[in-house]
Amino acid sequence: MDEDLIGRVVDTAAKVVASGAVSANGHGNISLRVSGADEMYYTSAPSLDVVGPEGIVRVGLDGTLLEGDLPPIQAAVVAMHTALYQDHPDVGCVIHTHPPYATAFAVANREIGCWIEAMAMFGLAAGVPVAAYGPRGSEQALANIRAAVRPGVPAVLLANHGLLVFHRTPDLAVLVVGVVEECARVSISAQSIGGPVEIPAVMRAAALQRAMTFDIAGVVTA
Ligand SMILES: [Zn+2]
Repeated sequence: MDEDLIGRVVDTAAKVVASGAVSANGHGNISLRVSGADEMYYTSAPSLDVVGPEGIVRVGLDGTLLEGDLPPIQAAVVAMHTALYQDHPDVGCVIHTHPPYATAFAVANREIGCWIEAMAMFGLAAGVPVAAYGPRGSEQALANIRAAVRPGVPAVLLANHGLLVFHRTPDLAVLVVGVVEECARVSISAQSIGGPVEIPAVMRAAALQRAMTFDIAGVVTA
């Protein structure tokens, strides 16, 4: 197996844990697409807290385990990752966790709206949809995820379960996990003072446009 790619999976797991977007037991799974091959590197430990280089396995996008050992709890959701790589050729990283506040929305079967500016800036202007419940990794769950995913939106809530994020790179996927969890957290606080208010659609586009303008300009030096 490629040491560099193993390191990137381990590093991504550490970043997700450091961001706080995990449940108390750290449950989750992360995968990276192997470019140029129909394969992914995938975490075999049930908790992202304990993912080390020895805990990364190699899996074909047809679901075949190619290298390493995969315990049942992680084997059961392999298809959730492979389906996203099959459906979205631009996706390079898939992250699944149970972030406490985003998972509250998943448990309530409620979408997360575009309530904070970062949602508009990072591809979530249309909000995060909810995929109806199905047993984890099952054909039913996959069909529900495929039905819920919106074009260009890199995240979906899994009803009564957690969050699934898929993006071009690990860093972007980690960023989106953090944005979704922050939005969920502040909106739940806002419920006690009247509820969150969605950013108007035209302003969501304006927020993205402004962010892109500054991105293109790059670092400003005095
Ligand atoms: Zn889960």
